[in-house]
Amino acid sequence: MNLKNNIEKIVQQLPDNKCRLIAVSKTKSVEDIMKAYEAGVRDFGENKVQELTQKQPQLPADIRWHMIGHLQRNKVKFIAPVVHLIHGVDSAKLLRAINKEGKKIDRKIPCLLQIHIAEEESKFGFAKEELYEMLHDQAMGDLHHVAVKGLMGMATFTDDQDQVRQEFKNLKVLYEALKQEQVTLPDFTMEELSMGMSGDYKIAVDEGSTMVRIGSAIFGER
Ligand SMILES: *Cc1c(COP(=O)(O)O)cnc(C)c1O
Repeated sequence: MNLKNNIEKIVQQLPDNKCRLIAVSKTKSVEDIMKAYEAGVRDFGENKVQELTQKQPQLPADIRWHMIGHLQRNKVKFIAPVVHLIHGVDSAKLLRAINKEGKKIDRKIPCLLQIHIAEEESKFGFAKEELYEMLHDQAMGDLHHVAVKGLMGMATFTDDQDQVRQEFKNLKVLYEALKQEQVTLPDFTMEELSMGMSGDYKIAVDEGSTMVRIGSAIFGER
């Protein structure tokens, strides 16, 4: 397994300055992360709070740490000072909890809203109606310590490429529509569209992804 080759191969397929590679390093050692770092990667994604907080102090300070997994409200405080972007915000309650921790440390924490685009029940994320309800809720007007920067989504795990493409297209349409939406959140912009993993990133890039989250195609199977 040659990390550097894997990374170069992926990066070549990303449109210049339009789509960023996030190396998903969950379950991988700090040594493996250092290899990817030496190959030029600066964005790393973890899906467990404890793993992120354990690895972060052992690695270079210019790494941007992305929280990509499901996040529990009571664990936000552990990542609040160090996280670059929280991808998996899937409820108004979680957004409030992040705001509360941001306020404590006087930081505005960058977030993406996770949207449920897959067919499977199991995947987390806002349904559309639920999303619009939150975005128009007057109570969201107080959240001055979160900055919503865009959307994140995971396609259905299937060999049906047309289905995956359609799900990414749907997310992109929503992302574009939200650029025009009047919302109550004080800091809401649509700059980042986090979609695409090892198995489907090429489709995601075609459909306008600005961030791909890739683990096994870099580090090998977990
Ligand atoms: C694990 C994970 C990835 C990366 O998956 P690979 O198939 O290994 O590329 C991307 N996004 C999320 C949310 C993940 O949990």
